[in-house]
Amino acid sequence: MTKLSGKIALVTGGSRGIGAAIVQRLVADGATVFFTFHSSPDKARTVADETGGIAIQADVAQAHAVAQLVQAVLDHPANTTKRIDILVNNAGITKDTLVLRMSEADWDAVIDTNLKGVFLMSKAVCKPMMSQRSGRIINIGSIVGITGNAGQVNYAASKAGIIGLTKSLAKELASRNILVNCVAPGYIDTDMTAKISEEQKQALQRSIPLGRTAQPSEIASVVSFLASDDASYITAQTILVDGGLAS
Ligand code: NDP
Repeated sequence: MTKLSGKIALVTGGSRGIGAAIVQRLVADGATVFFTFHSSPDKARTVADETGGIAIQADVAQAHAVAQLVQAVLDHPANTTKRIDILVNNAGITKDTLVLRMSEADWDAVIDTNLKGVFLMSKAVCKPMMSQRSGRIINIGSIVGITGNAGQVNYAASKAGIIGLTKSLAKELASRNILVNCVAPGYIDTDMTAKISEEQKQALQRSIPLGRTAQPSEIASVVSFLASDDASYITAQTILVDGGLAS
Protein backbone atom coordinates (compact mmCIF):
# COMPACT_ATOMS: atom_id res chain seq x y z
CA MET A 1 0.00 0.00 0.00
CA THR A 2 1.26 3.43 -0.91
CA LYS A 3 0.02 6.54 0.87
CA LEU A 4 -2.65 7.55 -1.68
CA SER A 5 -3.79 4.05 -2.68
CA GLY A 6 -7.44 4.02 -3.75
CA LYS A 7 -7.67 7.82 -3.98
CA ILE A 8 -8.99 9.63 -7.06
CA ALA A 9 -7.14 12.87 -7.89
CA LEU A 10 -7.83 15.59 -10.44
CA VAL A 11 -4.99 17.96 -11.37
CA THR A 12 -5.54 20.97 -13.63
CA GLY A 13 -2.78 21.91 -16.06
CA GLY A 14 -0.99 18.58 -15.94
CA SER A 15 0.47 18.72 -19.43
CA ARG A 16 3.66 20.60 -18.47
CA GLY A 17 5.84 21.93 -15.67
CA ILE A 18 4.67 21.74 -12.07
CA GLY A 19 1.35 20.09 -12.98
CA ALA A 20 3.09 17.25 -14.84
CA ALA A 21 5.34 16.67 -11.80
CA ILE A 22 2.27 16.60 -9.53
CA VAL A 23 0.61 14.01 -11.80
CA GLN A 24 3.77 11.89 -11.72
CA ARG A 25 4.08 12.14 -7.93
CA LEU A 26 0.43 11.37 -7.11
CA VAL A 27 0.48 8.35 -9.45
CA ALA A 28 3.67 7.15 -7.69
CA ASP A 29 1.83 7.60 -4.37
CA GLY A 30 -0.83 5.17 -5.58
CA ALA A 31 -3.65 7.51 -6.67
CA THR A 32 -5.66 7.24 -9.88
CA VAL A 33 -4.92 10.61 -11.45
CA PHE A 34 -6.96 12.55 -13.99
CA PHE A 35 -5.39 15.71 -15.36
CA THR A 36 -6.39 18.49 -17.69
CA PHE A 37 -4.60 20.14 -20.55
CA HIS A 38 -5.71 23.12 -22.59
CA SER A 39 -3.61 23.78 -25.69
CA SER A 40 -0.85 21.11 -25.50
CA PRO A 41 -2.41 17.78 -26.54
CA ASP A 42 0.94 16.24 -27.56
CA LYS A 43 2.55 17.10 -24.23
CA ALA A 44 -0.52 15.79 -22.39
CA ARG A 45 -0.26 12.49 -24.32
CA THR A 46 3.41 12.20 -23.35
CA VAL A 47 2.60 12.81 -19.65
CA ALA A 48 -0.21 10.23 -19.83
CA ASP A 49 2.09 7.67 -21.51
CA GLU A 50 4.94 8.26 -19.06
CA THR A 51 2.91 8.38 -15.83
CA GLY A 52 -0.33 6.48 -16.34
CA GLY A 53 -2.36 9.62 -15.62
CA ILE A 54 -5.54 10.13 -17.64
CA ALA A 55 -5.69 13.31 -19.76
CA ILE A 56 -8.88 15.28 -20.43
CA GLN A 57 -9.01 18.56 -22.36
CA ALA A 58 -10.72 21.43 -20.52
CA ASP A 59 -10.48 25.20 -20.18
CA VAL A 60 -10.74 25.87 -16.44
CA ALA A 61 -11.99 29.40 -17.13
CA GLN A 62 -15.24 28.14 -18.73
CA ALA A 63 -18.03 27.03 -16.38
CA HIS A 64 -19.60 24.59 -18.85
CA ALA A 65 -16.23 22.96 -19.61
CA VAL A 66 -15.52 22.57 -15.89
CA ALA A 67 -18.93 20.96 -15.26
CA GLN A 68 -18.35 18.51 -18.15
CA LEU A 69 -14.84 17.74 -16.88
CA VAL A 70 -15.97 16.88 -13.35
CA GLN A 71 -18.80 14.71 -14.67
CA ALA A 72 -16.38 12.94 -17.04
CA VAL A 73 -14.07 12.14 -14.11
CA LEU A 74 -16.96 10.84 -11.98
CA ASP A 75 -18.27 8.69 -14.87
CA HIS A 76 -14.88 7.41 -16.12
CA PRO A 77 -14.48 3.60 -15.99
CA ALA A 78 -11.10 4.01 -14.24
CA ASN A 79 -12.90 5.84 -11.41
CA THR A 80 -14.20 2.70 -9.73
CA THR A 81 -15.19 4.53 -6.51
CA LYS A 82 -17.05 7.36 -8.33
CA ARG A 83 -15.32 9.82 -6.00
CA ILE A 84 -13.01 12.80 -6.31
CA ASP A 85 -10.76 12.73 -3.24
CA ILE A 86 -8.14 15.30 -4.26
CA LEU A 87 -8.37 18.40 -6.45
CA VAL A 88 -5.16 20.26 -7.32
CA ASN A 89 -5.84 23.65 -8.89
CA ASN A 90 -2.54 24.14 -10.69
CA ALA A 91 -3.43 25.59 -14.14
CA GLY A 92 -2.12 29.13 -14.53
CA ILE A 93 -0.86 31.65 -17.04
CA THR A 94 1.08 34.92 -17.07
CA LYS A 95 0.64 37.98 -19.29
CA ASP A 96 3.29 40.25 -17.84
CA THR A 97 3.73 43.92 -18.61
CA LEU A 98 3.81 47.22 -16.75
CA VAL A 99 0.39 48.48 -15.70
CA LEU A 100 0.27 51.37 -18.19
CA ARG A 101 0.76 48.90 -21.04
CA MET A 102 -1.50 46.19 -19.63
CA SER A 103 -4.67 45.74 -21.67
CA GLU A 104 -8.05 44.86 -20.23
CA ALA A 105 -7.73 41.57 -22.14
CA ASP A 106 -4.39 40.79 -20.39
CA TRP A 107 -6.04 41.46 -17.03
CA ASP A 108 -9.15 39.37 -17.79
CA ALA A 109 -7.27 36.39 -19.24
CA VAL A 110 -5.04 36.01 -16.18
CA ILE A 111 -7.81 36.55 -13.63
CA ASP A 112 -10.16 34.21 -15.52
CA THR A 113 -7.70 31.30 -15.74
CA ASN A 114 -5.84 31.70 -12.45
CA LEU A 115 -8.60 32.85 -10.07
CA LYS A 116 -12.01 32.21 -11.64
CA GLY A 117 -10.70 28.80 -12.72
CA VAL A 118 -9.96 27.92 -9.08
CA PHE A 119 -13.45 29.09 -8.06
CA LEU A 120 -15.18 27.10 -10.83
CA MET A 121 -13.19 23.92 -10.23
CA SER A 122 -13.57 24.07 -6.44
CA LYS A 123 -17.31 24.72 -6.71
CA ALA A 124 -17.73 21.80 -9.12
CA VAL A 125 -15.97 19.27 -6.84
CA CYS A 126 -17.67 20.55 -3.66
CA LYS A 127 -20.83 18.54 -4.28
CA PRO A 128 -19.19 15.10 -4.58
CA MET A 129 -16.73 15.92 -1.77
CA MET A 130 -19.56 17.10 0.52
CA SER A 131 -21.52 13.89 0.01
CA GLN A 132 -18.30 11.89 0.56
CA ARG A 133 -17.75 13.94 3.73
CA SER A 134 -14.06 14.17 2.87
CA GLY A 135 -11.76 15.79 0.36
CA ARG A 136 -8.61 17.79 -0.21
CA ILE A 137 -8.38 20.91 -2.34
CA ILE A 138 -4.85 22.16 -2.96
CA ASN A 139 -4.42 25.46 -4.79
CA ILE A 140 -1.14 26.50 -6.42
CA GLY A 141 -0.59 30.16 -5.60
CA SER A 142 2.70 32.06 -5.79
CA ILE A 143 4.91 34.10 -3.50
CA VAL A 144 4.12 37.12 -5.68
CA GLY A 145 0.58 36.93 -4.27
CA ILE A 146 2.23 37.94 -0.98
CA THR A 147 5.17 40.09 -2.07
CA GLY A 148 3.80 41.65 -5.30
CA ASN A 149 5.98 42.02 -8.39
CA ALA A 150 6.45 44.88 -10.85
CA GLY A 151 5.05 43.90 -14.25
CA GLN A 152 2.62 41.38 -12.78
CA VAL A 153 -0.34 43.29 -11.32
CA ASN A 154 -2.77 40.84 -12.96
CA TYR A 155 -0.86 37.71 -11.94
CA ALA A 156 -0.10 38.92 -8.39
CA ALA A 157 -3.76 39.91 -7.89
CA SER A 158 -4.90 36.47 -9.08
CA LYS A 159 -2.48 34.72 -6.72
CA ALA A 160 -3.37 36.97 -3.75
CA GLY A 161 -7.03 36.17 -4.54
CA ILE A 162 -6.26 32.46 -4.34
CA ILE A 163 -4.95 32.91 -0.78
CA GLY A 164 -8.21 34.62 0.31
CA LEU A 165 -10.29 32.04 -1.54
CA THR A 166 -8.35 29.22 0.16
CA LYS A 167 -8.95 30.61 3.67
CA SER A 168 -12.66 31.26 3.03
CA LEU A 169 -13.36 27.92 1.36
CA ALA A 170 -11.49 26.08 4.12
CA LYS A 171 -13.81 27.70 6.69
CA GLU A 172 -16.94 26.87 4.63
CA LEU A 173 -16.00 23.22 4.12
CA ALA A 174 -14.24 22.30 7.38
CA SER A 175 -17.38 20.78 8.94
CA ARG A 176 -17.53 18.33 6.00
CA ASN A 177 -13.92 17.24 6.53
CA ILE A 178 -12.79 18.93 3.31
CA LEU A 179 -9.37 20.50 3.81
CA VAL A 180 -8.33 23.41 1.60
CA ASN A 181 -4.75 24.68 1.39
CA CYS A 182 -2.50 26.70 -0.88
CA VAL A 183 1.08 26.01 -1.94
CA ALA A 184 2.93 29.19 -2.93
CA PRO A 185 6.05 28.44 -4.99
CA GLY A 186 8.97 30.80 -5.48
CA TYR A 187 10.90 30.33 -8.75
CA ILE A 188 10.59 26.91 -10.33
CA ASP A 189 12.31 25.79 -13.55
CA THR A 190 9.40 25.46 -16.03
CA ASP A 191 8.28 27.02 -19.34
CA MET A 192 6.75 29.85 -17.30
CA THR A 193 10.14 31.02 -16.01
CA ALA A 194 12.19 30.04 -19.09
CA LYS A 195 11.89 33.60 -20.48
CA ILE A 196 14.16 34.98 -17.72
CA SER A 197 17.61 35.90 -19.09
CA GLU A 198 20.72 34.15 -17.73
CA GLU A 199 21.81 37.45 -16.12
CA GLN A 200 18.43 37.86 -14.38
CA LYS A 201 18.54 34.24 -13.28
CA GLN A 202 21.96 34.65 -11.67
CA ALA A 203 20.81 37.79 -9.82
CA LEU A 204 17.70 35.93 -8.70
CA GLN A 205 19.70 32.97 -7.44
CA ARG A 206 21.85 35.32 -5.36
CA SER A 207 18.69 36.68 -3.69
CA ILE A 208 17.34 33.22 -2.77
CA PRO A 209 18.68 32.08 0.62
CA LEU A 210 19.03 28.47 -0.64
CA GLY A 211 20.96 29.87 -3.62
CA ARG A 212 19.02 28.18 -6.42
CA THR A 213 15.69 27.93 -8.19
CA ALA A 214 13.67 24.74 -7.66
CA GLN A 215 12.54 21.73 -9.65
CA PRO A 216 8.80 20.99 -10.19
CA SER A 217 9.18 17.80 -8.13
CA GLU A 218 9.93 19.98 -5.07
CA ILE A 219 6.42 21.46 -5.32
CA ALA A 220 4.86 18.07 -6.09
CA SER A 221 6.25 16.60 -2.85
CA VAL A 222 4.47 19.28 -0.78
CA VAL A 223 1.22 18.67 -2.68
CA SER A 224 1.62 14.95 -2.00
CA PHE A 225 1.99 15.66 1.73
CA LEU A 226 -1.08 17.94 1.82
CA ALA A 227 -3.11 15.27 -0.01
CA SER A 228 -2.12 12.57 2.47
CA ASP A 229 -3.34 11.47 5.90
CA ASP A 230 -0.16 13.03 7.35
CA ALA A 231 -1.77 16.47 6.77
CA SER A 232 -5.11 15.62 8.44
CA TYR A 233 -5.07 18.70 10.74
CA ILE A 234 -3.86 21.31 8.23
CA THR A 235 -6.42 23.54 6.56
CA ALA A 236 -6.71 27.20 5.41
CA GLN A 237 -2.91 27.48 5.15
CA THR A 238 -0.57 28.90 2.55
CA ILE A 239 2.75 27.06 2.53
CA LEU A 240 5.62 28.95 0.89
CA VAL A 241 8.02 26.71 -1.04
CA ASP A 242 10.52 29.35 -2.11
CA GLY A 243 13.95 28.53 -0.73
CA GLY A 244 13.45 31.32 1.83
CA LEU A 245 13.03 34.09 -0.80
CA ALA A 246 9.95 35.85 0.61
CA SER A 247 11.02 35.71 4.28
P1 NDP B 1 3.49 26.13 -17.26
O1 NDP B 1 3.32 27.34 -18.09
O2 NDP B 1 4.70 25.27 -17.42
O3 NDP B 1 2.17 25.19 -17.41
C1 NDP B 1 0.91 25.75 -17.25
C2 NDP B 1 -0.13 24.65 -17.28
O4 NDP B 1 -1.44 25.26 -17.15
C3 NDP B 1 -0.14 23.88 -18.59
O5 NDP B 1 -0.37 22.51 -18.32
C4 NDP B 1 -1.32 24.49 -19.34
O6 NDP B 1 -1.97 23.60 -20.24
C5 NDP B 1 -2.28 24.79 -18.19
N1 NDP B 1 -3.28 25.80 -18.53
C6 NDP B 1 -3.07 27.08 -18.91
N2 NDP B 1 -4.23 27.68 -19.17
C7 NDP B 1 -5.21 26.77 -18.93
C8 NDP B 1 -6.62 26.79 -19.02
N3 NDP B 1 -7.30 27.91 -19.38
N4 NDP B 1 -7.30 25.68 -18.72
C9 NDP B 1 -6.65 24.55 -18.34
N5 NDP B 1 -5.32 24.46 -18.25
C10 NDP B 1 -4.60 25.56 -18.55
O7 NDP B 1 3.37 26.64 -15.75
P2 NDP B 1 4.10 26.16 -14.41
O8 NDP B 1 4.15 24.69 -14.36
O9 NDP B 1 5.31 26.96 -14.23
O10 NDP B 1 3.04 26.72 -13.34
C11 NDP B 1 2.04 25.90 -12.75
C12 NDP B 1 1.36 26.70 -11.65
O11 NDP B 1 2.34 27.10 -10.70
C13 NDP B 1 0.69 27.98 -12.16
O12 NDP B 1 -0.49 28.20 -11.42
C14 NDP B 1 1.72 29.05 -11.83
O13 NDP B 1 1.13 30.30 -11.68
C15 NDP B 1 2.28 28.51 -10.53
N6 NDP B 1 3.60 29.03 -10.21
C16 NDP B 1 4.69 28.80 -11.01
C17 NDP B 1 5.93 29.29 -10.67
C18 NDP B 1 7.15 29.05 -11.48
O14 NDP B 1 8.22 29.57 -11.09
N7 NDP B 1 7.12 28.27 -12.54
C19 NDP B 1 6.11 30.12 -9.45
C20 NDP B 1 4.90 30.31 -8.70
C21 NDP B 1 3.71 29.79 -9.07
P3 NDP B 1 -1.62 23.59 -21.83
O15 NDP B 1 -0.14 23.60 -21.97
O16 NDP B 1 -2.25 22.32 -22.30
O17 NDP B 1 -2.28 24.82 -22.40
